[in-house]
Amino acid sequence: MNKDEALEYLRGNHLPTVWCPGCGNGIVLKAMLEAIKNLGLQKDNIAVVSGIGCSSRATGYIDFNTMHTLHGRAIAFATGVKLARPDLKVIVITGDGDAMAIGGNHFIHACRRNMDLTVVIYNNNIYGMTGGQYSPTTPFGDKATTAPYGNLEAPFDIVEMAKTAGATYIARATTYHYMLMVKYIQKAIAHEGMSVVDAVTQCPTYYGRYNKSGDAPGMMQYFKESGISLEKAKSLDQKALEGKIIIGEFVDIQKPGYVSEYNKLRENLKVKS
Ligand code: SF4
Repeated sequence: MNKDEALEYLRGNHLPTVWCPGCGNGIVLKAMLEAIKNLGLQKDNIAVVSGIGCSSRATGYIDFNTMHTLHGRAIAFATGVKLARPDLKVIVITGDGDAMAIGGNHFIHACRRNMDLTVVIYNNNIYGMTGGQYSPTTPFGDKATTAPYGNLEAPFDIVEMAKTAGATYIARATTYHYMLMVKYIQKAIAHEGMSVVDAVTQCPTYYGRYNKSGDAPGMMQYFKESGISLEKAKSLDQKALEGKIIIGEFVDIQKPGYVSEYNKLRENLKVKS
């Protein structure tokens, strides 16, 4: 996708973005736009809902039906949009803090219901917008403004969380693995049911600086070196997997979701009345 093609999907008068130089948010967003273009979807047939955080600012820049909502509540709003307008493709843009902390309950119950949504989680392992506090995905021992001596909490694995809760398409890629990220987001949008993409991205301003991970290219170099395929990961033991980012499609199944069941019920009730 070249610049002009990308601009077709952007509100030019809202650019440039507020994102820091080197932030990975633009890469994940471009992957999403490229996925939408590849699918040939019309802009008016897409609704994008975001919560609060650096990544959630994306809804201000993209030219779809967009809602920038409350912290942690993007999935709740998106559920309402989907039930009111099942004809729309509804995509949620959220961050690791927004989706896994304050929005954690909405996330697990949307997975449990197999709600027909695509949730793209910009996972930079930290709260960027509010000043670099540790998030539910900050690795144990890593530093943040609220963990200057290292994080004492075990992190959530977004993929495992989505799997356990019942999502029916789950994938992970990093900003280094851009083409895979496009492919996975594309499959997630095309999927009927709850689809989740753990989009691992860099926040050089906070996470990178506190953890001495280097600048943005340095962080992407780390993604390159630590990323391994799901197939390869299956042959490694727990010790060998330490510090690795497992990339791939973890779940891709079909099963009835809330939206189709709800529509079926409505049709049945109409027949009876
Ligand atoms: Fe990106 Fe981090 Fe800057 Fe937020 S604070 S825009 S996540 S680099």
